[in-house]
Order: sequence, then C-alpha cells, then structure tokens
Amino acid sequence: MALLIDGKQISAQIKEELKEEVGKMTERGTTVTLAVILVGEDPASCVYVRNKKRACEYIGIRSISCELPAKTTQEELLSVIKGYNEDDSVDGILVQLPLPEHINEDAVIEAIDPKKDVDGFHPQSVGALWIGKPGFVSCTPAGIIQLLKRSGVEIEGRECVVVGRSNIVGKPMAQLLLRENGTVTICHSRTKNLPEVCRRADILVCAIGKPKFFTKDYVKPGAAVIDVGIHRNAENKLCGDVDFADVEPVAGAITPVPGGVGPMTIAMLMENCVEAARRKESLK
Ligand code: NDP
Repeated sequence: MALLIDGKQISAQIKEELKEEVGKMTERGTTVTLAVILVGEDPASCVYVRNKKRACEYIGIRSISCELPAKTTQEELLSVIKGYNEDDSVDGILVQLPLPEHINEDAVIEAIDPKKDVDGFHPQSVGALWIGKPGFVSCTPAGIIQLLKRSGVEIEGRECVVVGRSNIVGKPMAQLLLRENGTVTICHSRTKNLPEVCRRADILVCAIGKPKFFTKDYVKPGAAVIDVGIHRNAENKLCGDVDFADVEPVAGAITPVPGGVGPMTIAMLMENCVEAARRKESLK
C-alpha cells in the first residue's frame, strides 16, 4: 500500500510554524501585511480570496482587500497596484486571477513590485528561479517540494517526470526539482510515448488538467505520484488527474484529491508573505 502524502496535515503544520514566527515578529514590532485585489465577482475567485483572508487571520498576517467591480479599467487596476507598491506597510500584493477579459493579465502581473510578488508570477521572479537567485516561487510547485520533503521522499539524484508545462505549475515545478538535484524530464501534449516516459519516474508530477488520465500504466512500481489536477465529476465529487484507485496499489507514495496538493497552495502563499516580511526586517 502506498504512503498517503497528507497535504492537509502538512499544510496545517506549516501554518502553525508560520503562526509562531509571525507572533515573534509582532513582538519585535514587525507587522506582516498582504494586500489582496479582486476584480469582479467570479464565485470561485471569491471563495479563494475568502480562504486566503482566513489563513492570514489564523497566522496573524494583516490582510487588506480591495474589491473592484468587473467593469474596472486596466488603468484603474494598475493605479491600485501602484498605491500598494509605494505603501511601505504592504509586504505582499496578490491579484486574484483570472481577470475580466478586457484586462491584460501580463501587464497587471508585471506592474507588481517583484519584492511584493508573493504569487511568484512576475517575470523577474520567474527569471530569478531559473538562474538561482532569491525571489518568490509560484505557490503550488513550492508546496509540492514541501510535500515531498516532509514525507521523506528523496529528490536528489532521482528521475523526476513533470507532465504539463504551464508557467504556474509545470515549468516552475521542473526548475524546483532541478534545484533539489533531481534529474528532470518535462512532458507535454506533444510528448511521444508518454506512458513509457512516465514509467521512468521515481517522482511523477501530473499537472495536465484531465480527470483520471494517469492510470497504473504510467507508473513505475514504488514511484511517488503527485496529483496537481482538480476536477469535479458528474456526482460533484472532487478528483484529480490521477486515477487514484488504479494507481495507489502500485505507487510507493501518492497525494489524494482532495487533501493533497490543494491545501499546500495557500500555506505557501502565507510562507511567501512571511518571507517578504523577513526580507524587510533584514534591511532594517
Ligand atoms: P494548463 O492548462 O495551463 O496546462 C496544462 C499542461 O498539460 C500543458 O502544458 C499541456 O501541454 C499539458 N497537457 C494537456 N493534455 C496533455 C496530454 N494529454 N498529455 C500530456 N500533456 C498534456 O494547466 P495548469 O498547469 O494551470 O493546471 C493543471 C491542473 O492543475 C488543472 O487541473 C488545474 O486545475 C490544476 N491546478 C491545481 C492547483 C492546486 O492548487 N492544486 C493550482 C493550479 C492548477 P501543451 O503545453 O503542449 O498544451
């Protein structure tokens, strides 16, 4: 039976550690502040923002939010970001994506001061990751590294296969595994012989957005399987990119959906906010 990698428990542990650290920062007179910007009323985005604010409250991070109507212009949004960039009391800025269609997401991401880019999406943060300089890392892949490390899954020297090459998951995931000295292969929709390539993996990260796509035919016995996908099936139940029931008997370790990668994303956002405040303190 595979080891179940418990994202709920690991994310709770990270939040406890951060809560303790933020408590000490507060005693030193440092307040950690996250500014959250939401444009429009997309129901899923409203839930994500609410969960992020709740996590801040639990840890002791001050959250300020700016909720703008869907018809907000790009210039208006950029001016809100400029205000937070210039406000020394704000450590992190998060613009909830997706944005309404008339707003250019790249322009918005690029407007955020990289020192406050707690989502890690700014081109400067992405570049810093690739050349090994300090910068913020995209939360979902950063959370996966924590899941592996805290579950005792060795990365160094092992074959890692990442399926999916998006800017927020696949590419930073591959780079982080490389930074941990894994031997990394990135696969995508044009990869030939995908099951064969996946079966080389000691660590297989599945991030393609296709429900239950990965069966045991893609998994080497004993491999650690990380399922990034989130889908709702016909019965409104959550499932991932991995066919859990089929893969679990052959895997060495596996993340469930829900309760695997999902809870780690907010925990790592909180970690990035605290990191921004640590950097601010180190400059004092
Ligand atoms: P994208 O749609 O941006 O990227 C999907 C990637 O998968 C692309 O690189 C695509 O290849 C590749 N792909 C698609 N079909 C196949 C296939 N049949 N074989 C091989 N590769 C394929 O998705 P994201 O990276 O944003 O997200 C992936 C999944 O993770 C989604 O289910 C999403 O909901 C979930 N997610 C979960 C998060 C969490 O917190 N748990 C956070 C973020 C995402 P190509 O480039 O060639 O088109």
